[in-house]
Amino acid sequence: MNRMYQICNRCIMDTSDPEITFDSNGYCNHCTRVLKEHRNEPYCFSPEQKKKRLEMLVATIKKRGKNNRYDCIIGVSGGVDSSYTAYQVKELGLRPLAVHLDNGWDSELSVMNIENICKKLSVDLFTYVIDWEEFKDLQLSFLKASTPDSEIPSDHAIVSILYKKAQKEGLNYIIAGTNFATESILPHSWSQGHDDWKYIRSIQNKFGKMRLKSFPHRSILQRCYHKYIKRIKWINLLDYIEYDKEMAKKIIAQKLDWRDYGGKHLESNYTKIYQSYILPEKFEYDKRKAHLSSLICAGQINRKQAIDTMKEPLYAKSQLEEDILYLINKFSISRKEFDEIMRLPPKSYRDYPNYANSWYASLHKGVKGCISKLTKRTI
Ligand SMILES: [Zn+2]
Repeated sequence: MNRMYQICNRCIMDTSDPEITFDSNGYCNHCTRVLKEHRNEPYCFSPEQKKKRLEMLVATIKKRGKNNRYDCIIGVSGGVDSSYTAYQVKELGLRPLAVHLDNGWDSELSVMNIENICKKLSVDLFTYVIDWEEFKDLQLSFLKASTPDSEIPSDHAIVSILYKKAQKEGLNYIIAGTNFATESILPHSWSQGHDDWKYIRSIQNKFGKMRLKSFPHRSILQRCYHKYIKRIKWINLLDYIEYDKEMAKKIIAQKLDWRDYGGKHLESNYTKIYQSYILPEKFEYDKRKAHLSSLICAGQINRKQAIDTMKEPLYAKSQLEEDILYLINKFSISRKEFDEIMRLPPKSYRDYPNYANSWYASLHKGVKGCISKLTKRTI
């Protein structure tokens, strides 16, 4: 049944999220959740509280890492968020090891940005180069599975590498560019299963030509091991500082020779075509809506600015054709095969085996609930 179109009166989320709900004021569940329910997040603290919490956090990281060569891991992609995080980490006097996943889709600009950042900040860089043939087959499997989750192989691999590297180096902190200000809204229905190794494996078993032998992954047990036994913590550093994206861009351009690539997460050639063409064309999901709505909630732009930004085309037509050609050449598929993939009926995470309804997921939820009740929130 087709639902009548509705857009939120406060942000710009709309019924392209099939699970969106609106209250009597016409405000959606997303911005309402962000503005009301997340008051306990560091992001919402006053500048003084943030400063105090950050000082405590940095002191703890330094203390825990004093016998190591490094005291934390930072993920670097060449994008604004992770580059600015790297800059801030060094400003705070920490000794990070930068970790990057080369999944075969880095743009030239992102590679240059990463090199410049590490050189200018004198930070050691560990790059994990993924087995391209295996990864290509997995990405194609996700496209054939026809769910809106084709970025999950990259996301899952990056997080796995960060945790495994932290474990290997004996470090307790992963400092990431993920943040509440620019990423507080992302509809569940638009992407699911980031941590779900069972989902990834089931897609590959059904649609892949190869067995996954070296793909970096974490099972539920490994996730529990990292969290509860090794006590490795994920820190959204940008939530502890006043993060203004435009200001951050200016600082890293000036201090680190960072160069802009023109959009959120477009440092990857695959992300560019996936977010700007495949997702909106096939699923009618335009991630700019979630990103701009997050910025409205953070007070960094107003609703009119977001609506005006949405009027800009996602792709220049000539560039789109060029990028589709690049993608099908990388995947070694024909244009006909790509068009067939685009015509496949959309499916969802729920159409494939996953952890969500398994007994160990319930156990994990239960354990997590008990632990958060027993321990007070620490930084
Ligand atoms: Zn809203």
